[in-house]
Amino acid sequence: MTQRAWDRPWCASFNVENLEQKVEVVGWIRRRRDLGGLVFVDLRDRTGIVQLVFETEMLSYGEKLSPEDVVRVEGTIRRRAEGQANPDLPTGEIEIRVSGCEVLTSAETPPFVVEDDTNASEELRLKHRALDLRRPKMVSNLILRHRVVAEARRFFDEMEFLEVETPILTRSTPEGARDFLVPSRVHKGEFYALPQSPQLFKQMLQVAGVGRYVQIARCFRDEDLRADRQPEFTQIDVEASFITEEDIFFLIERLFGCIFPMVGIDPPETFPRLSYAECMERFGSDRPDTRFGLELVELGPQCEGCGFRVLESAAEEGRVKGILLPGGADYSRKQLDGLAEFVKPYGAAGVLWFKLTADGVGSPAKKALGEDGCRRFLEAAGAGEGDLLLVVGAPERVVFAALGALRVHLAGERDLIPKDRHDFLWVTDFPLLEHSPDDDRYFAMHHPFTAPLPEDEALMESDPGVVRARAYDVVMDGVELGGGSIRIHSAQLQRQMFAALGIDAAEADERFGFLLEAFRYGVPPHGGIALGLDRMIMLMAGRDSIRDVIAFPKTTSASCLLTEAPSGVDEDQLKELGLKV
Ligand code: ASP
Repeated sequence: MTQRAWDRPWCASFNVENLEQKVEVVGWIRRRRDLGGLVFVDLRDRTGIVQLVFETEMLSYGEKLSPEDVVRVEGTIRRRAEGQANPDLPTGEIEIRVSGCEVLTSAETPPFVVEDDTNASEELRLKHRALDLRRPKMVSNLILRHRVVAEARRFFDEMEFLEVETPILTRSTPEGARDFLVPSRVHKGEFYALPQSPQLFKQMLQVAGVGRYVQIARCFRDEDLRADRQPEFTQIDVEASFITEEDIFFLIERLFGCIFPMVGIDPPETFPRLSYAECMERFGSDRPDTRFGLELVELGPQCEGCGFRVLESAAEEGRVKGILLPGGADYSRKQLDGLAEFVKPYGAAGVLWFKLTADGVGSPAKKALGEDGCRRFLEAAGAGEGDLLLVVGAPERVVFAALGALRVHLAGERDLIPKDRHDFLWVTDFPLLEHSPDDDRYFAMHHPFTAPLPEDEALMESDPGVVRARAYDVVMDGVELGGGSIRIHSAQLQRQMFAALGIDAAEADERFGFLLEAFRYGVPPHGGIALGLDRMIMLMAGRDSIRDVIAFPKTTSASCLLTEAPSGVDEDQLKELGLKV
């Protein structure tokens, strides 16, 4: 049978409509079942599987096949025997009676069975990634990723955005992470930096008059890795001129309205908006998961003159807030100790607890506060019988971090997160600057090109810490999917921003001179956003790790088990670069 490769059907494309057809298929052997006089073989490609039957004169061919052999077979589609249909498979009602079989390559026994249900360690899977990517779940992640990118490109094209590529070998970009550096051979002793984002270039493109830019952009940040962070990752990077926050919100809400339904998630037409300050007060986090309650309660006023010095001074010097866990009075001493341990990495000394039961109040603070004193705290939190109040008193940032994390932890532990609900929201009005106590200076919370809210501009010099930014994040189910801002386009304001950051004219020139120079010749008001593609696909695919939605990811120690990168290089290569290790 001759046919163009592009016309050859995929394994999973056959069904009862193809009965009696003569077909040719190619693929990998998934498994073989010998039934004596009859061999059943599942043939796999990226679309799924089809059952092959080897019998009579073809029997001996079937008997020789082993998993992962690559074959081409010819045969006729027929209905499976009575009672043999598999309703879970698209091809479950049919099979191919093989009349010709060519083994294109035979495979050695693979290091693990290529099935969704594998007990292979992630290490082994990453080392043999080609086998791992044959597993149906991994294939579906790749397909989903492709579809989302294709749809995003279609969407932005329709909105008249231009996709423009920006350099990978470039200068340090201002996202605040550590750079990956690439030594220059031509300019010995000098380095390129890999872009932490295309930020400066996408702004340049606005000065250039592109007006609407988009890029599926690779970004590089040398940070400590986590399950949802990789040293190189992909952003849907967006920038546009003559726009406001409202335009960005509209754009991204429409985009999500095109993308998320692909996995059966229907985002609302417009997303709720919460200010940064409100997020922190209510959820202790700037990426709140609003699918469950357990909101933080204010307990400062209850501490005043309560007689328990620890709480009094915590409230005077910082904040005291709590979380009410309905029905939590059943927590054992051991579990409560566990919660105290849980908050320690966030800087809190521990958790003070209050239980309200039929027998009265239980709390380690009962001695100091008395029964009535304890009740004041429980009442303020709205506690009923059987409830547990968990309290943290510390500097504000510690209270937010500890309770924000504890809230999510408790929700997981008590199974309070509804599985089929998805919450999208915008976080707005971020602080422009973040004070670092260690360096005793301000850093840009977003980056130094983010504009302040016009009504706060006057405070840039007198009280920079309270200035709010025209910055926004989009959050889904407690995960930050992206963020951006309206940028500064006035030279005067940009100078003020640099001054607040302690960047003098020389340093500004050295780091961002090319952008500032371009700004001198007509810069449009502009702004943008970047969405983390990997994270978005991870949520859409319902996975816990972005490594599952990246074809060739790195481990948490930033190595590639497949290629064994990073690796040493030849002495000669170093010499050419003028480097010594
Ligand atoms: N460049 C920013 C980032 O990577 C996004 C933006 O401001 O558009 O987070």
